Amino acid sequence: MPDTRRFEGPSDLHLHSIHSDGTESAAHVMAAAHRHGLRTAALTDHDTTSGWADAAEAAVSLGMTFIPGMELSAKYEWRSVHVLAYLIDPDDPRLRAMTDRIRSSRLERARTMADRIGRDYDLHWDDIVAQTSDGATVGRPHIADALVAKGLVADRAEAFSDILSPRGDYYVALYAPDPVLAVQLVVGAGGVPIIAHPAGRAGLLPTPLMERMLAAGLAGFEVGHRENLEAGIRTLRRISAERDLIITGSSDYHGLGKPNQPGEHTTSDDMVARIIDRATGSTPVYP
Ligand code: AMP
Ligand code: ZN
Ligand code: FE
Ligand code: FE
Repeated sequence: MPDTRRFEGPSDLHLHSIHSDGTESAAHVMAAAHRHGLRTAALTDHDTTSGWADAAEAAVSLGMTFIPGMELSAKYEWRSVHVLAYLIDPDDPRLRAMTDRIRSSRLERARTMADRIGRDYDLHWDDIVAQTSDGATVGRPHIADALVAKGLVADRAEAFSDILSPRGDYYVALYAPDPVLAVQLVVGAGGVPIIAHPAGRAGLLPTPLMERMLAAGLAGFEVGHRENLEAGIRTLRRISAERDLIITGSSDYHGLGKPNQPGEHTTSDDMVARIIDRATGSTPVYP
């Protein structure tokens, strides 16, 4: 059998750990995936690959296949666009320079948001640091966790709908590249770019942007995701069938940070094999 078929399903290709805004270690995330019956799982922390080694070791010890991944931040006008990057070379200099830049912008932005929130609430930068693991990619979820720890909101969801909302007084945007550049960087690092949750409340990306992303090497869409809406899913399924694109389904597990559970959406074996076949940046880690 060729290498690319050594994995077994079910496969969940979108999970987060404390290396970004999940609430569990990379090893615990793989254990959670295993408990939910998955045989193949990817770790896709925001803008970092620092959890790969721990996740791979844990996955393999549980008899699972590990797919290295990342969720790269991008931005189009006012909306954030998340590009899942599978099997990239983690040392690719251009992609690394970009993730370094995004991560430092995220840190500065979190500090500014903390300052603004601190004018109205009893919240200090130390409270956010206390919720963030060393070296993790910082995001609004860490500020949310600090607000929860201080008893200022009940959970992350409440923080996001109120204090952390982009429409509120405390929000600060982060630096993120144009989605076309994000796709180019992932392809340049030998990876396979897939748009995460592409049919959420903000609606599908404008067709001309989608076309430019496809021309840059976009491989497909995360069609199975709890935030995707039915009308957008139908359109994406049609486009994907017409152009023979890859479609995935995944949980976007964040530990206790979101209700999403491992395996609530999965990716077919054929699609996982296509992702592995297409990648040149790194390889899955097999048990
Ligand atoms: P940021 O990139 O720092 O602006 O934060 C966005 C992150 O927050 C994404 O990874 C989402 O998974 C997470 N997020 C967005 N909305 C919510 C919510 N209502 N509850 C929990 N997490 C959320
Ligand atoms: Zn997240
Ligand atoms: Fe996302
Ligand atoms: Fe995610």
